[in-house]
Amino acid sequence: MYRVGLTGGIGSGKTTVTNMFEKLGARIIDADIIVRELSGSGKPAYQAILQLFGTEVVDENQELRRPLIRQMIFSNAELKTRLEAILHPLVRTEIDQRIMKNSHPYSIISIPLLFEGNSAYNIDRILVIDAPEKLQIARAASRDGVDCEDVQNIIATQISRKQRLERADDVIINDADIASLQSQVRLLHDKYLQLADQQRCLT
Ligand code: ATP
Repeated sequence: MYRVGLTGGIGSGKTTVTNMFEKLGARIIDADIIVRELSGSGKPAYQAILQLFGTEVVDENQELRRPLIRQMIFSNAELKTRLEAILHPLVRTEIDQRIMKNSHPYSIISIPLLFEGNSAYNIDRILVIDAPEKLQIARAASRDGVDCEDVQNIIATQISRKQRLERADDVIINDADIASLQSQVRLLHDKYLQLADQQRCLT
């Protein structure tokens, strides 16, 4: 099964692009959704996270207080590494299992923080969604109803556009309208169908 890892900064257009790929027939696997599922109350990562952070990170419904955890790891690199060590192996295994059950020609695996963590994912190709920082800020702030500064602070915790682009096999530039985005997605969809076909012939 051909695997494309998709990443990009906040507000770059990852969700918009994955929705377009899905409509064209790709299988979408979202690492953020998997993390949320695996760390729900009683799920495989839940107890280990509680042991690491203590019971104060649990709310009255026994669910994790995710904003509090985000805040705690923001200023504590060791805690962040230990959290990743709990989550990443489980996420990787879950992705692999979902891909094995998959009958689509190829999969898009959305991993927003692909380059920020230390984890290696089993992917064939990296697609980066890139947008000028001004547009990232405007789009994310208006979507979430937050201040520009809030988005700027998150961008500051992510790797730079330049570093992201250096590691890309393919790039979608989301600096124009939705129609422009759609045509870039269509071209890449055709390319991924071809690559998936080639891979099938070689195995
Ligand atoms: P996050 O990292 O915060 O999850 P994201 O990378 O998934 O964000 P999207 O949610 O797809 O980004 O896009 C951010 C916002 O910008 C959304 O409201 C989306 O509808 C809008 N948007 C994305 N691309 C365009 C575009 N080309 N033209 C106009 N609006 C766009």
